[in-house]
Amino acid sequence: MSADIIDGKAFAGDLRARVAEKVAAFRAAADRAPGLAVVLVGEDPASQVYVRSKHKATIEAGMESFEHRLPDTTTQDELLAVVRRLNTDDSVDGILVQLPLPPQIDENVVIATIDPDKDVDGFHVVNAGRLAVGQHGYVPCTPLGCLMLLKDRLGDLSGLDAVVIGRSNIVGKPMAQLLLGESCTVTIAHSRTRDLPDVVKRADIVVAAVGRPEMIRGDWIKPGATVIDVGINRVPGAEPGKTKLVGDVDFAAASQVAGAITPVPGGVGPMTIAVLLRNTLVAAHRRAGVPYAKGSI
Ligand code: NDP
Repeated sequence: MSADIIDGKAFAGDLRARVAEKVAAFRAAADRAPGLAVVLVGEDPASQVYVRSKHKATIEAGMESFEHRLPDTTTQDELLAVVRRLNTDDSVDGILVQLPLPPQIDENVVIATIDPDKDVDGFHVVNAGRLAVGQHGYVPCTPLGCLMLLKDRLGDLSGLDAVVIGRSNIVGKPMAQLLLGESCTVTIAHSRTRDLPDVVKRADIVVAAVGRPEMIRGDWIKPGATVIDVGINRVPGAEPGKTKLVGDVDFAAASQVAGAITPVPGGVGPMTIAVLLRNTLVAAHRRAGVPYAKGSI
């Protein structure tokens, strides 16, 4: 059996187009564009690439993009002052502080300083709490993107056995909460889990968010299961000196067994920015008091 490939790139492109349409309607209703502020501290090359992509996508969606680039010598107080200014800036609907931060800055303090109603990354404890108790808030972009792909593929998820491998605050835990919210029976696996192959084998839905290249083997997958691979790992490529990206799942083997699977790249990765734009659009509607048809995106 050969699995269907879940085309996250195409889904994300479609989501971004739908966001752009709604941005146009928002601009007409509110007489301003939704605004996303991105704060980058330091010169981390990967972060620079992410911030550039976010800026480009924000502009393409018809939103305002405010970039704040600070040197890696920035103190925590200086960064907090920037965040507080953005909290009170009416043209800013969403605030994203690019992680990781330099060692002199405590990222928990920074995230706690962001206004929860502008926390479009969904990392603030208030939003984590809202997700846990089923209230409206902002959900971290990557797991929300995974859920969108799963619902698009499977429709109603209720009653399905789901395993989330990884328990980070930004992927694993919110992913598990979202699946629980869809009435899945959820298992969260982590580095102390005993007999991970057996746990994975029972799942109709496997979400891998570990950060270990191709760790999830093909023969762990239940035939017909839906596999969402969040992992992004750079490994040596076929040619000397070249690298390539692989996920946390052994794609070649798992795709022989699964019913559907996301590739890496081109699966979950493109969803993150698309959902960030969607969260910013929602924030703009809430802040401007413009009704937003829930479920429309
Ligand atoms: P973290 O390192 O924060 O968490 C990794 C999790 O994997 C931990 O909970 C850890 O368990 C668990 N783990 C580690 N080793 C094992 C093992 N041998 N068996 C079972 N579980 C294990 O990673 P993130 O959640 O931030 O990211 C996970 C992956 O997703 C990475 O590859 C990252 O690059 C990618 N990612 C992709 C995004 C995107 O597509 N846009 C966005 C965010 C992340 P324990 O808690 O016990 O240590």
